Amino acid sequence: MSVMRSALLAVSENRWMRSHGQKLWFVKRAVRWFMPGETFDDMIAAAATLRPFGIHAIFTRLGENVADWSEADAVTAHYVDAIDRIKAAGIICEPSVKPTQLGLDLDRERCFQNLCTLASRAKDCGNYLWIDMEQSPYVDATIDVATRLRAQFDNVGVCLQAYLHRSMDDLLALRSRGVGVRLVKGAYMEPAAVAIQAKSALDEHYFALAAAMLEPSGRPAGFRAVFGTHDIPLIARIQAHAERAGLAPGGVEIHMLFGIQRAEQLRLAASGATVRVLIAYGTFWFPWYMRRLAERPANVWFVIKSLFA
Ligand SMILES: Cc1cc2nc3c(=O)[nH]c(=O)nc-3n(C[C@H](O)[C@H](O)[C@H](O)COP(=O)(O)OP(=O)(O)OC[C@H]3O[C@@H](n4cnc5c(N)ncnc54)[C@H](O)[C@@H]3O)c2cc1C
Repeated sequence: MSVMRSALLAVSENRWMRSHGQKLWFVKRAVRWFMPGETFDDMIAAAATLRPFGIHAIFTRLGENVADWSEADAVTAHYVDAIDRIKAAGIICEPSVKPTQLGLDLDRERCFQNLCTLASRAKDCGNYLWIDMEQSPYVDATIDVATRLRAQFDNVGVCLQAYLHRSMDDLLALRSRGVGVRLVKGAYMEPAAVAIQAKSALDEHYFALAAAMLEPSGRPAGFRAVFGTHDIPLIARIQAHAERAGLAPGGVEIHMLFGIQRAEQLRLAASGATVRVLIAYGTFWFPWYMRRLAERPANVWFVIKSLFA
């Protein structure tokens, strides 16, 4: 892991920086590249700009590790209202939520109840609920709640991180239960004991997991395979594999983040791939933004440039 990447990830987890970093005006200005605005309406407006290109959205209200139930319950209420508003507007826009924002640090069962509320509302509205994956100590609990949710609702998927050594076992278990999987590389600082550190080995692991996700015989009804990556050569490799397995181009679903690889998002959608873009909003964006900088340390230039803009 590069020194810059480690430093940015350390900053993302620093408590003081989490509450003070986002007050810096030049950081506020630079984050706009990845986040169209802090409100739900900003997210909806950005989603509308993608729709003419056949790209639908996923949305997330930024926040993590809430410290009390009033916050976790308010976040749940926000998502219920958001799902209703999306249904009323007649648009396609799927929620993606962080378990620690719904109270996982406080009590797993009550967090599960909050997730049930969201999955149930999403089901009633013809929507789908994505569950994000956070740092490795949360993986067991997150997979547990996702699996239990899937036993009650068929519109639930969870993120899996290819950098974790354990992910193939998790994938096979989730796939056999029909829990949707969004495969990403992984955004946190994790030790070598739990996570692959070298990029080439990580990319190979991602591809092996992707191939397992596309196996037709291993797919029970309802399993949704999604690839959350901006790695264009890797996407091309997965698409070629899918084609050899007899899947149509639209059968490979790709999710990217707002503001990253914009031209490729349009190109892929125009070529027939199913592309969705995750749009984040909210006021607690600092740790999330630091993780975006860490993914491509050259992004720090955006911050430096915005100092002088
Ligand atoms: C829809 C979605 C949901 C996600 N959810 C989670 C989650 O729940 N848990 C989690 O741990 N991680 C999540 N991530 C983040 C993910 O783990 C990676 O950190 C992130 O996607 C970067 O990895 P990559 O696959 O794009 O590949 P990389 O090898 O990192 O990047 C490939 C290329 O994409 C471009 N690129 C990548 N990131 C950036 C960036 N920030 N700025 C500019 N260019 C960039 C660069 O050109 C780079 O060369 C999510 C990502 C997506 C797209």
